[in-house]
Amino acid sequence: MFVLDQILRENIRKIKPYSSARDEYSGTEGVFLDANENPIGTVGGGHYHRYPDPMQSGVKELLAQLKRVEMQNIFLGNGSDEAIDLLFRMVCEPGKDNVLIFPPTYGMYQVSADINNVEARQSILTESFQINLDDAFSKIDERTKIVFVCSPNNPTGNNIDPRSIYKLLDNFNGIVVVDEAYIDFSYGMTFVRELSNYPNLLILQTFSKAWGMAGLRLGMAFGSKELITIMNRVKPPYNVNQLTQKYAVKALQNILHKEQMVQEILFEREKLIERFNEFDKVQRIYHSEANFILIKVQGARNIYNKLIEKLVIVRDRSSVVLCEDCLRISVGTKEENEVLLKAFAEVI
Ligand SMILES: *Cc1c(COP(=O)(O)O)cnc(C)c1O
Repeated sequence: MFVLDQILRENIRKIKPYSSARDEYSGTEGVFLDANENPIGTVGGGHYHRYPDPMQSGVKELLAQLKRVEMQNIFLGNGSDEAIDLLFRMVCEPGKDNVLIFPPTYGMYQVSADINNVEARQSILTESFQINLDDAFSKIDERTKIVFVCSPNNPTGNNIDPRSIYKLLDNFNGIVVVDEAYIDFSYGMTFVRELSNYPNLLILQTFSKAWGMAGLRLGMAFGSKELITIMNRVKPPYNVNQLTQKYAVKALQNILHKEQMVQEILFEREKLIERFNEFDKVQRIYHSEANFILIKVQGARNIYNKLIEKLVIVRDRSSVVLCEDCLRISVGTKEENEVLLKAFAEVI
């Protein structure tokens, strides 16, 4: 059985939350002389001389409606990468505990594990980029605290079979992270709807991809109220800045804009797949449920370098397990894709 208190590090279990000025008085009216801010204004203009809302209530109110969860089920961070790092610090005792990842997958899980001095055990995906459950469970032991599932997976682009994720949720007593950074581009199900059934579930989503806000850094995590409470306690108090909060509120009032961009990107993705299919040297284009495609092509490394000479930058994944001779290519605009295809035809 999953018991949050049992997997938290002892120091975290005992922690008293830092109480910021804005926590202690959260009203909006009054003369604010409690946070040592500049009362006059902001150098360079704008109104950023007050600390931002530490709980990002404006954003969470709209997000709760959109995702059909309660505000207390939402954590917001400086990118989803902040949530990943927080989790390590909350539940993994450095040098003792371990986590499980499924390569080829998003690189940040390993990086965050290394930074926190936590062993990242690997269970390599199958040839069809699915989880090998027997292998996964053979690598889990009593010191395994987190399992990271990325679906749709980066860099392969496919969804992980939800049945495998349910097996992990049902049988693993640590936290199952389901990273849904690309969910807006996918026909697959979101696990957000399973929150009430699984206290060990934490879903990551982001404003960086479909919402087009990578430069503003805003990541979402959805989990049980208990888990989210601890995350909020461990995060830096003002982790999401004022400007980002303001933009996120605007974005959440313009969901249609996001959906239009997603449709356009999906359309361009399908066109790109058709066009790459015409090249003999392209051995394989993997099915994608994301805003990128993974292609297998003879001499990928060389092609990557030659594309760079033409100022077309894709991602060389040829040294990644199961991705030999593979390039990961983000779907660009119509014009960018034309530039890519022209350059690709020339170098190949
Ligand atoms: C891009 C990406 C993210 C987003 O990270 P942010 O810190 O929110 O920009 C998260 N997970 C995966 C798998 C990604 O590819």
